[in-house]
Amino acid sequence: MAGAHLLARGEGLPRVDSAEGVHVVGTDGRRYLDAAGGAVVVGVGHGRTAVVEAAAEQARRVAYVHGTAFCADVLDEYADALAARLPVADARVYPVSGGSEAVETALKMARAHHLARGEDRSVVVGRRHSYHGSTRGALDVSGRVGLRAPYEPWLSHAVHTSTPQEYRCPNPDHPVRCGRWHAHHLERTLAEVGPERVAAFVAEPVAGAGLAACVPPGDYWPAVVEVCRRHGVLVVADEVMTGFGRTGRWFASEHYGLQPDLLTAGKGAASGYWPLGLAVASGEVAETLREGGFVHGFTYSHHLVGAATGLAVLRCLEEDGLVAAAQVRGRQLRTALEGELADSPLVGDVRGAGLLVGVELVADRASRRPFPRSERLTERLVATAKELGLLLYPAAGCADGTSGDAVLLGPPLVISASEVDELVTLLSRALRALTP
Ligand code: PMP
Repeated sequence: MAGAHLLARGEGLPRVDSAEGVHVVGTDGRRYLDAAGGAVVVGVGHGRTAVVEAAAEQARRVAYVHGTAFCADVLDEYADALAARLPVADARVYPVSGGSEAVETALKMARAHHLARGEDRSVVVGRRHSYHGSTRGALDVSGRVGLRAPYEPWLSHAVHTSTPQEYRCPNPDHPVRCGRWHAHHLERTLAEVGPERVAAFVAEPVAGAGLAACVPPGDYWPAVVEVCRRHGVLVVADEVMTGFGRTGRWFASEHYGLQPDLLTAGKGAASGYWPLGLAVASGEVAETLREGGFVHGFTYSHHLVGAATGLAVLRCLEEDGLVAAAQVRGRQLRTALEGELADSPLVGDVRGAGLLVGVELVADRASRRPFPRSERLTERLVATAKELGLLLYPAAGCADGTSGDAVLLGPPLVISASEVDELVTLLSRALRALTP
């Protein structure tokens, strides 16, 4: 049987044939509106010839050299172009092959930075409900209990602090002093392990992966950064999902004036045309790493085709004004969803920033009661929407009373006004089909 040797992917799935703009076409001719952007990956749209040609041109000229033997103009050019866009002071860029590798790299950078300064800091603080990747270090920082549990015990040591969730904020006085409340929680978490042992605090500026586009209150980031700085803890902004225009800014950190010490990116960086991730260090951190002799690297880090692809994606984002477009289309999408789903008993909350939009599903709208784990709606909604020709991204959601289940919308930033309307109509139809 064809495909019998492929592990863990493929069974029962339609076969893909091609894709263009915001649409994906199956081998059976069915056309899907890609409201998920794959997995919130495809920013500049499917079938971008300029990106494909830039990648092919680099592959033809020279696809691969090892980073210990050569540097290349395309790497310098890409890093310089990125540095002008990144919210990191005097940014230095380390290209890798994806989000998890970027997070692993940043974690090692944090540890190495402190060691080079004579400080033995090995603990990392993540947040509850968060997701930062599948590798051992990145998963350890992640706070999603269900994903972590099978892989204990951990090689490293991470602890988890509270995370802002506007719809289900753990602050009993919400929305009063929410930022201060979470900063206080972080302070307590640091005190429990000893702040002098903590290397870094890792969080998404806007929580995409774990909590379906939860936007923290305006005073959250200044308050937690103040706590981190006071204790010498590095701030790592995980922008794997939120980077490259997704939230209507180049990077979501900009919404808060956040200048992290380290930043991670992936997904939209190469828009799905190449497996590309980025670990970014501030000039100050990079300087300590250089002095301390940072030992790190993957066979595929600093890949030339990755850099050429990333550069072409940056140009598309710039030339097509896609960061501003994400703001405008995102606003249209949220407003239309709020209107269209206002009386759906299954929808508790519509939230997000730019074209990163979460729709939280509840069993009871008045009490915000989530569906019990065994009755989660997410998977059923994703399947029903797919039948109707709409691709959704199943978001986390613990259904443990502290968060519900949810779908995430992250369409390509090239989506048009009429395609946004089509998306809303299809989603609304799928929800109606599931309403008892
Ligand atoms: N960090 C965040 C915030 C993510 O959303 C993801 C992927 N969903 C990752 C890290 C891991 O990235 P990858 O799957 O490319 O390894």
